[in-house]
Amino acid sequence: MDRKVIPVANPWLGEKEAAAARRVILSGWVTQGPEVAAFEKEFAEYVGVPHACAVSSCTTALHLALRALGVGDGDEVITVSNSFIATANAVCYTGALPVFVDVDPCYHNIDPEKIEQAITSLTRAILCVHQVGMPCDVKSILEIARKHGLPLVEDAACAMGSEILWNGRWERIGKPHGDIACFSFHPRKLVTTGDGGMLTTANADWDRKFRLWRQHSMNVSDAARHNAQQVVFEEYVELGYNYRLTDIQAAVGREQLKRLPAMLERRRMLATRYDKLLSEIPGIGLPKQPCWAHSNWQSYCVRLPERCDQRRFMQKLLDEGISTRRGVMCAHREAPYADMSQCVRFPLTESEIVQDRTIVLPLYHQMTEAEQDRVIAAVANACTLFFASARSQQLV
Ligand SMILES: *Cc1c(COP(=O)(O)O)cnc(C)c1O
Repeated sequence: MDRKVIPVANPWLGEKEAAAARRVILSGWVTQGPEVAAFEKEFAEYVGVPHACAVSSCTTALHLALRALGVGDGDEVITVSNSFIATANAVCYTGALPVFVDVDPCYHNIDPEKIEQAITSLTRAILCVHQVGMPCDVKSILEIARKHGLPLVEDAACAMGSEILWNGRWERIGKPHGDIACFSFHPRKLVTTGDGGMLTTANADWDRKFRLWRQHSMNVSDAARHNAQQVVFEEYVELGYNYRLTDIQAAVGREQLKRLPAMLERRRMLATRYDKLLSEIPGIGLPKQPCWAHSNWQSYCVRLPERCDQRRFMQKLLDEGISTRRGVMCAHREAPYADMSQCVRFPLTESEIVQDRTIVLPLYHQMTEAEQDRVIAAVANACTLFFASARSQQLV
């Protein structure tokens, strides 16, 4: 067949981003400078937060967030295994141990009811994830966190533009509703700068720390030194990192922010269309959205029929020119966590079900309805084949 493969995701970039990058390259100032400052300001205004600090990725954002909270050697951070591995890795970078709790079977986000049992005298923070853009139950989690005097970090890597109903008003993820939220600008997310990240907080002290640490803990900014009329000698006041975002990336990010409302509208329309048309296929479980959440639909994940072989199902779709991914991974099944039995103290049954029995269907801004129809037809076809072969093996 001569048909183009439908990708699982596709960043929406164009001439505007190319022109922005060109403008910065020709300006002569290419790393953390005026474009980063402008991107931070526009980002902060969009999510409705006092402070936004740009960094090189969400992974580095998570590292700085945990360090600002004083998380370090010997501490424990309660989080999910069922997330991209960077969530757990960031905890390990601080010297602390991630303690995994299961996700709930309905929304596939951290199960607030499972958090309290995981709290010990060593717990220093809770790190929740708005998985695939679907807001987690921050209100319930925050109640537990406050009761135990624990700070809450939100891994909002996928959640740019997602909203949560907060005291009767729709608010954007990143306000933050916990203490610090961390975003990603990887091409698999909505807004992309190639790579990049953002920290948001209402706490000015933490924001100052992020700004210091991302630039080697150098006590004078490049811009201040550049513009100084008198000679300035800088100092490196503590251990720092190079976690800078470049001005080239920030200029691209500013153009992406302008596209975000259109991206959200399109993705929500396509997700609603998937809901409607896939609901007619028996055996396929649709993603659920709580009444207090508006997802940005960073990913659209469906659950396969019971006993359906995930790899074969995905291969069948790929044979028809449709690219998919398996559901969100589990960190505890990967090599860095294989020997860390201390991380796995509780059953992670639902987490493993998400990884083994869900798949991510193609969803991206430029997707046409005809392309979406091809995906839906292929899913229906694969289901029919599965049920036919299951019947012949007396499975159903
Ligand atoms: C993508 C992702 C990350 C990592 O983001 P980077 O910007 O690539 O470092 C972290 N957590 C979650 C939940 C993610 O989806």
